[in-house]
Amino acid sequence: MKSVRDIPDIRGAPVLLRADFDVPVDEHGHVHEEFRIVKQKENLDFLLSRGARVVMVAHISAVESFRPLLPQLKKFLGREIGFADDLTEVHRFVQDAGSLLLLDNIRKWPEEERNDSAFAGELAAGFAAYVNNAFAVCHREHASVATVPFMLPSFAGLLVQAEIAQLRKVMDAPAAGKVVIMGGAKASTKVPVIRHLIANADAVLTGGVIALDIAKVLGNDIGASRVDPDAAELLAGLDLNDQRLHIPEDSVTDNGRILDTGPLTAARYRDIIATASTVIWNGPMGVFEDERYMPGTRAIAEAIVAGSAFSLIGGGDTIAAVHQLGLMEKFSHVCTGGGAMLAFLANQQLPGLVPLGVYTE
Ligand code: ADP
Ligand code: MG
Repeated sequence: MKSVRDIPDIRGAPVLLRADFDVPVDEHGHVHEEFRIVKQKENLDFLLSRGARVVMVAHISAVESFRPLLPQLKKFLGREIGFADDLTEVHRFVQDAGSLLLLDNIRKWPEEERNDSAFAGELAAGFAAYVNNAFAVCHREHASVATVPFMLPSFAGLLVQAEIAQLRKVMDAPAAGKVVIMGGAKASTKVPVIRHLIANADAVLTGGVIALDIAKVLGNDIGASRVDPDAAELLAGLDLNDQRLHIPEDSVTDNGRILDTGPLTAARYRDIIATASTVIWNGPMGVFEDERYMPGTRAIAEAIVAGSAFSLIGGGDTIAAVHQLGLMEKFSHVCTGGGAMLAFLANQQLPGLVPLGVYTE
């Protein structure tokens, strides 16, 4: 992997930094979970301490523009930050002498998600190097993630390296004592993880919609519960009778819909987690947004933090639940990626990591 620590002399040189500031924002425009912004600080400080002149490129989904969030970004990063509405202003900065600039929401340009190569060329123009520190978008085939790095000398940022190291650590940990917990929705992103990790784990504990998908395919009665429409095809390659694959035995229901795992499941899962030395968790056990359906998810979070296992968690909703429970600090590693983490755990090659030489060592 080409590490930012090995970047050549960049004093005074313009560096394009793919950062990650995709945070939730409340109705008053306040960032209410700054975890991802704070995680960018170390790498940014590193580049600026080397004398680089940095242009940050990032996206945000919660609001259209970064402009109103700029004061908060400055506060969390502890820096003065210039702001560019468009690429003309970026090119002016590159020629000029400023030290730190943020380009507005890169997804404002449809070319970003279309992975337009002419657009990638305009973005890369004039820069001496590219640093990717946005692990959470590394599974996306977008211009600033997957194409720009082929146009410049490119390096993995400190956060990207840390995420890869932690994910490899849990993947490579011995099967004995490894427990994988999968909840939430979107079976298409979860089944490949189960398929890849189950052979190298003691147990896979399921909850949420993914458990309902499995229960349905097994012929269990799940009433009018939410399922993934394509569950049967997605689960086709998985042995649903594998002794290591667990589904809930009881549930909390409302109007014929299963909305959380029940107390028997919580107790059984707690006992399995208590014996673990490595825990990987993605996806809430139920509709945790409603306090009545939080207990299944709370039981998992509390069981993990009560034990002594190395714990890695990730996923936007998983983090939101853990944050709500006030347990964020208690996990060994909280991954900034959701989809990217799942793709990595499923052993897929991420398009943003390929140009950084992650798979050619
Ligand atoms: P993450 O963001 O952590 O990867 P997901 O996005 O996969 O998690 O799943 C979280 C969503 O799954 C939540 O919105 C939650 O309400 C929903 N969910 C979990 N269990 C159920 C259920 N039994 N029925 C309906 N929705 C559920
Ligand atoms: Mg989610």
